[in-house]
Amino acid sequence: MTGLTSKVAIITGASSGIGYATAKLFALEGASVVLGARRSEKLEQLSREITKNGGKARFLAGDVKDELFSKALVDLASKEFGGLDVAFNNAGTIGALGTASHQVTLSEWENTITTNLTSAFLGAKYQVPEMLKREGGSIIFTSSFVGYTVGMPQKAAYAASKAGMIGLAKALATEFGARGIRVNALLPGGTDTPMGQADANKPEIVEFVKNIHALKRIALPEEIAKSALYLASDASSFTTGTALLVDGGVSICRT
Ligand code: NAP
Repeated sequence: MTGLTSKVAIITGASSGIGYATAKLFALEGASVVLGARRSEKLEQLSREITKNGGKARFLAGDVKDELFSKALVDLASKEFGGLDVAFNNAGTIGALGTASHQVTLSEWENTITTNLTSAFLGAKYQVPEMLKREGGSIIFTSSFVGYTVGMPQKAAYAASKAGMIGLAKALATEFGARGIRVNALLPGGTDTPMGQADANKPEIVEFVKNIHALKRIALPEEIAKSALYLASDASSFTTGTALLVDGGVSICRT
């Protein structure tokens, strides 16, 4: 309970799943957290819970596709907590489910790419200048094993967006490493969240997904949150530009 003492962290996708679990953990570890997502009531509920447990939280509802929202989250962190040390750019969509890739419409493609990849760029665009004021920080993008170590049918836009986030992390890591900013991509395996449940929506698919992991199960969001904490904190002070697999062995499993 000291990993993020005195740090200020933005967490997007904080209304659910991995982002929700990470926001709770970051607050428990001492960070002042700024929570972002579209569902205001979920953010308010989480913010209240964190405050009740002695933490510090603010929230702002908005869409990560909107450049002004990215800026507003940074402004809120700066105004309420005096700066920014950590940004967990985690909000994402799986996109059109059950659609063959050649039947995905241009607007569906663009929605997935913008929600996942362009939002990561927009996040960093405003987070970097705020972090430069303190000559340091940690930016984390939630990518995926999908599109990196594993190909999956009917996930072209999702895979392309998630692979793009890894390239973005590497580019930013080289550009701002000398100024103390670390940038990493976090690659969860199958995780038990509303998104994971929407993707594996039948008992036989749930079993299939568990079995493609070496650990023969999917992750709890709290397990992914612990890896986000690692990348956010000084425990990973020499780690930048990585694609950190936290995937239960789905990338190496052939049994
Ligand atoms: P989730 O429970 O469905 O959470 C997704 C979060 O993203 C929600 O908080 C949602 O909030 C937010 N979000 C989605 N679109 C948004 C938008 N346009 N603007 C603002 N916020 C938006 O899913 P999850 O599994 O925790 O997903 C978190 C991240 O992990 C995603 O990037 C996902 O691709 C990645 N991931 C998940 C898995 C998995 O198996 N679950 C595996 C690998 C990677 P609102 O709906 O309130 O806006």
